[in-house]
Amino acid sequence: MAFESLSEKLQNVFKNLRGKGRLSEDDVRIGLKEVRLALLEADVSFKVVKDFIKGIQEKATGSDVLNSLTPAQQVIKIVNEEMISLMGSETAELKIKPSGEITVIMMAGLQGAGKTTTTAKLAAKLKKKGNSPVLVGCDIYRPAAIEQLKRNGEKVDVPVFDMGTNRKPVEIAKKALEYAKENHHNIVFLDTAGRLHIDEDMMNELIEIKDNVNVDDIILVVDAMTGQDAVNVAETFNEKLDITGVILTKLDGDTRGGAALSVRAVTGKPILYVGMGEKLSDLEQFYPDRMASRILG
Ligand code: GDP
Repeated sequence: MAFESLSEKLQNVFKNLRGKGRLSEDDVRIGLKEVRLALLEADVSFKVVKDFIKGIQEKATGSDVLNSLTPAQQVIKIVNEEMISLMGSETAELKIKPSGEITVIMMAGLQGAGKTTTTAKLAAKLKKKGNSPVLVGCDIYRPAAIEQLKRNGEKVDVPVFDMGTNRKPVEIAKKALEYAKENHHNIVFLDTAGRLHIDEDMMNELIEIKDNVNVDDIILVVDAMTGQDAVNVAETFNEKLDITGVILTKLDGDTRGGAALSVRAVTGKPILYVGMGEKLSDLEQFYPDRMASRILG
């Protein structure tokens, strides 16, 4: 199960605190040191951990907490609240324009992160809510990518627009918008090309699409299993492209939890959804409070 080890460690810390009855400032400090270690072992970014612990320490060592009848409960409550706020507090919603208008969503991410799969998952979800999406194959470098998009589109009954591999992605995106207008689609998903690593050509291509097509949202797909790498990727994409938000994939296989806990704090952008499996129905809205409960047990 995801985050098992982190959960277990945090629960142990809390158990120890609860077992003490009255708490001294030192008890809290030692407890928080253990929390800090558990978070670092879960691959949460160093700076995120530092700020997180500092914030809790200030609140949890106040006399109102230490002198209360249930000091351990108060400390746990503070950890819970800070963890929710670390992950963004509110559930972030993707805004779809009112009917008659087209929302253009550019999907970006490194190869293998799960971008093509996630595009189909998200389109299916929005279709269920009454939208009419179309998927657009902008990855002209790997013919297999367009084929995969088509297969996924078929599975979720969402059409795919493509122009093969001989046109520039920005040109395909422009034509796709015309196609969407003519065929009354209200959401256009641009499935862009990924690379194994961030490189300048890829970024420039994405920037060119952004600058030339009326892109409303840029959603970055990152693989949660890559931990801090996922967070670094998100930070770079956000600097270059000013992304709207992140979808974390493969959370079902993420045993540590570092990406989920760091992405929001590092980029300032919300986690919109999480991928929980390979099936095209395995996409869940991200709820910071539920995630915190899952982690804190
Ligand atoms: P792309 O190169 O970014 O377009 O990645 P793909 O969409 O081809 O996905 C790469 C692999 O990750 C595929 O085998 C997907 O089935 C798998 N995948 C994508 N999302 C998830 C997820 O949330 N959980 C799991 N377990 N696998 C996923």
